[in-house]
Order: sequence, then structure tokens, then C-alpha cells
Amino acid sequence: MKANCWFGKRDVQVVDVPEPAILNSHDAIVKITSTAICGSDLHLYNGLVPTMEKGDILGHEFMGDVVEVGSAVTKLKTGDRVVVAFPISCGNCFFCRRELFSLCENTNPNAWLAQKLFGHSPAGLYGYTHMLGGFAGGQAEYVRVPFADVGTLKVPDQLSDEQVLFLSDIFPTGYMAAENCNIQAGDTVAVWGCGPVGQFAMKSALMLGAERVIGIDRFPYRMNIARKNTGAEVINYEKCDVYETLMDMTGGLGPDACIDAVGMEAHVPGVIGAYDRAKQAMMLEADRPHVLRQAILACRKGGTVSIPGVYGGFDDKIPLGALMNKALTFKTGQTHVQHYLEPLLGRISSGEIDPSFIVTHEMPLEDAPRAFELFLNKQDDCLKVVLKPH
Ligand SMILES: [Zn+2]
Ligand SMILES: [Zn+2]
Repeated sequence: MKANCWFGKRDVQVVDVPEPAILNSHDAIVKITSTAICGSDLHLYNGLVPTMEKGDILGHEFMGDVVEVGSAVTKLKTGDRVVVAFPISCGNCFFCRRELFSLCENTNPNAWLAQKLFGHSPAGLYGYTHMLGGFAGGQAEYVRVPFADVGTLKVPDQLSDEQVLFLSDIFPTGYMAAENCNIQAGDTVAVWGCGPVGQFAMKSALMLGAERVIGIDRFPYRMNIARKNTGAEVINYEKCDVYETLMDMTGGLGPDACIDAVGMEAHVPGVIGAYDRAKQAMMLEADRPHVLRQAILACRKGGTVSIPGVYGGFDDKIPLGALMNKALTFKTGQTHVQHYLEPLLGRISSGEIDPSFIVTHEMPLEDAPRAFELFLNKQDDCLKVVLKPH
């Protein structure tokens, strides 16, 4: 079969690889109908996350039709149309029983590697480094889905792929980021990043009762999509001082909650940006945590900083003094996608949200290398690419 594989920094290629097979009785094989490129795939593309190996199949946002099930799979049968959650979760461990699915104890065969860096290992993920399991991803014609009963959601035929595909990651990710803000009536929520996760965080914050949402970005087309589709106000950080502007907009209090939907590759103008870039290039700093710094400084006293953006390692100049003295709450984590699948499908089915508004490009799987370039460089007003393997 064809699959989009990682070969090094800025080098992905669609090549022939062996088709997946059932390896465990809890597995299913899914024939992919739609798969997306995620902002977090760009961190791999840019060579910033260790333990990728040449030939690894990328992709953790995908859906399709079940073509084979293992003998222990009870909820699925051949022919079911499913969307797949990006964390691989057993459904039965200490964490899964508490619905903290992205923290599953049982699905990362390379847990010892992640433990060295993080103290404990999170769940295994599709197409996201050997440190997180080395599982083949879904930018391919077929994929093996371990613990298929736990990690899949059957989707109704009347909804299109583009309406339900993002249940695999970015819709739940934006939603959990907003839910983590403990939004109260009258709240203002600021969201750094009008990428796909930022868009869903903005939309979700308003669905969860925020009075006002402010999106922060620098690309006019992304800001326009946010304004039109989520109801957020937007500010351009290249045209204003973000802190001063947020204070002006909130009567000097600061936003009640701040969401960092950017993560480790923040674009940072000026001296501090040069500092982060240099240290990241020399491997002296894992991330460029500029947005996190801004969010901590801007957040209202007693407010919440919610971090769906991906960070990888050890970072400098995080204003812990502000965090402590302003009594801020931090909430973060890889998304517990399985926890959100049913309720968010409900919000789609009821028409409360149509997640397809973020799709700007649909391309055949063969064009994945070009799609990565478009998405990385924000060319052709690219916000989200859906790849079609069949
Ligand atoms: Zn993703
Ligand atoms: Zn588990």
C-alpha cells in the first residue's frame, strides 16, 4: 500500500510499504477514507522531536471503513464507518478507568524512553515518534487500530468525512482546552493561534458560555476564518503589543483564561525570538515558549492558563514568579479524545457546529509532500489539508 513516510527534516515521501495485519485479538484494520495533517506533524517535519526513524508512517488524524477485526473485538464489524482517536488506550488501566485516556499505562511499548524525559510515559500515539510507541500512522491506505473497541467511534452516514474527521484530534483538543478554562458566565478567553486547534478552542469557548473570545495570530486569512466561523474578535500580534491590547480590551484586568494553541514553535519577533531560536537550534532549549510567557503575563489574577499546544522538553525564562504571585491555574495534557467522541459527535449531529469550516485543501495522498509544504509555509491560505488515500 501507499503511505506518507518521514525520512528526515522537511522530507516526507509517499512510498510503498507492507499492508498492516491483525497482530492482537483487540485490533481492527481500517481502510482510510480521509486523513489530515496536524500542526503537531509539523514539529516532526521540522525535525524537532527526537526518536523518529526513516520510513515511519505519519498521521494521527484519520477515519475510514473497518475491513477486518480481531477475535476479541466486540463493538465493531467489517463495514463499519469509524473515526479513530489519536491516543491509543487500553480502556482498562488506572488512567483509562478515570477517562484520562491519553495517559494510558498499557499502550506505549517504549515507555522507558518517555519515562527518561518526562518521569512517566503517556499513552502510545499513532505516527508520533518511537518514544511514544512507534505505531504506524494513518496517512496511508490502511492502518492497524489497536484496542479498536476503545479507540473508535461509529459515525452516521449522513455526516460527511470532513464533518466528523476532526473528532480524531483537533476538535476534542480545542474543546478540552476550553473546558480546562472552567469558563464562567461573562468570561473573556484569549486564544493564541488561529490554526485549526485555536479555531476549535475559540468556537468551544463560546459554546461553553464565554462572553467574549479574542484570537491572536498574524495571518489575515486565519484571522478572517476565526472571525467568520467562531465568533471571536481577533488581534494581529505583529501590529500591536499583545499585552497592552488585551489589557485595553479587558479594562486592565486581563483575560479570565488564556489558551496557548501554538506550542513549541512559536513565531517570536525581536530579541527574545532570536534567543529561543538559537537555543533551540543548539538543542539547549527544547521549545520556543514565547506564547506561554505572554499568556502567563497577560492572564487575569486568579485566572487559568490552558495549554493544548505541544511542548517537548525543558524551557527557559518561563515567568514562574507571575504564575505563583498571580495565583494562576495551569491545565494541559494530550487530549483524552475517547472521552469527548460521543458528546462532540452529538454537537455535530445537532448542527451546533460543523467542523468542516476549517478545511481549505483536499488532495490525494500522493500529494502529501506538497501538502506539508503548503501547510508549513501557510501558502495558498492553507489552514487544514485533508488527504484522500482512495
Ligand atoms: Zn493532531
Ligand atoms: Zn489504559
